[in-house]
Amino acid sequence: MDLFAVLARKALYPAFVGLKRETHLCHLREMERTQYLPKDKLETLQFERLRRLVAHAAAHCPYYARSFADCGVGPSSLKELGDIRKFPVLRKKDIQANAADMLASNVPRSHLVENRTGGSTGKPLHFYVDLERMETRKAATIRHNRWAGYDIADRAGIVWGSTRDLAAVFEGRLPLRNAVFERSLVLDASSLTEQGMLDFADRLAKYKPRVILAYAHSAYLFASVLESRATRTVSPHSVITTAEMLYPHQRERIERVFGCRVFDRYGSRETSVIASECEAHSGLHINAECLLLETLEDGRPVGPGEPGEVIITDLLNVGMPFIRYAIEDWATLSPDACACGRTLPLMSAVEGRTTDFIRTPEGKYVSGAALTIKLIAEIPGIAQAQLIQDSIDSVRFRIVKDPSFTKESEELLLRKARELMGPSISISTEFCENIPSEPSGKFRFSISKATGNEKRG
Ligand SMILES: [Zn+2]
Repeated sequence: MDLFAVLARKALYPAFVGLKRETHLCHLREMERTQYLPKDKLETLQFERLRRLVAHAAAHCPYYARSFADCGVGPSSLKELGDIRKFPVLRKKDIQANAADMLASNVPRSHLVENRTGGSTGKPLHFYVDLERMETRKAATIRHNRWAGYDIADRAGIVWGSTRDLAAVFEGRLPLRNAVFERSLVLDASSLTEQGMLDFADRLAKYKPRVILAYAHSAYLFASVLESRATRTVSPHSVITTAEMLYPHQRERIERVFGCRVFDRYGSRETSVIASECEAHSGLHINAECLLLETLEDGRPVGPGEPGEVIITDLLNVGMPFIRYAIEDWATLSPDACACGRTLPLMSAVEGRTTDFIRTPEGKYVSGAALTIKLIAEIPGIAQAQLIQDSIDSVRFRIVKDPSFTKESEELLLRKARELMGPSISISTEFCENIPSEPSGKFRFSISKATGNEKRG
């Protein structure tokens, strides 16, 4: 048993957040209760929060005042939860064009935390989260971690894109916290080599993490490399995968190699944790006290069991409300009850979030999911981007520019890409009006046609 973790969790951590006047442990206690609320009580809670959010957005966010007026809707249009469908859908291009007008005029700038994402669809967004929402995001993340047996101060092995993104995972905690409460070893998913993964496994074998937290495809690649070893060296309690679609064959291999269950998670930087698997593994429970999820096809709601476009309302971010946000993922809601007893609604794993690794001539694997955040989110003026590897020694970026894209943006992109992909690969850019989806309708940020990617996939 990890006695330090128990002490830190029970005594040090509550004292620390008390000193900092942070509220997430209070929210966490509340969420531990509300995850078992009867369905009607949960919907009442969601409706109350929705009503408050819509009234606030109409009164204090110029963008919503305009878009509600254009659609002839307002706070009085809400009589029940389903009335959300009368309101306009918020697209990524709307946010790119109206971010400043989405900010609430009655929330001081000092109460907002800046964030950005490269997005699963290669469309970068720049947005803000208010301080109290940061606290409920932390609380939800801890609650969902607990479902996988991972709690505050437990040791973790992490395969992730960037430290900046990790700050999102842990919701912006500070260096002291990192040392005491987020005890983790990190491997950078944007720079994976076979030797690097074997060395990381050796470090983990000594560190004995409670959990491994990784991008889905990176966890699979890591498991694939370790499988060539005869003995199991890393045996965590669980593996949490996220950011990308997890295929059944990937789950199977990860579970076999690490000798534990995989807990898949669906999250985004815009809204933090959206849904996670519990110990019953019969789908992902939606973080329903914080988020209202709809699934649509051609603007109409789809029934349970049918895949639809995911539309998310963040019920708690008043600093920059996201009301009916089209996150550009597809998922299927489930009407089933879960054996674990939690009443938070279930959804199937999200579909379509898939990125290929870029394999460099030097033998390095660069995670597509890591590139969206480490590269695309950092370049000004990109409306959408896609990365295509035509051969082992050549990649090209397809870019849809927005008006703020400059020559410097292109130079920055090429320079950062060079740092990530090494000295010998040829990197080019190609500008276009739009980037088509795959024939399946799904969008892939990175596509590699170089051999060797598929088997690792
Ligand atoms: Zn459950």
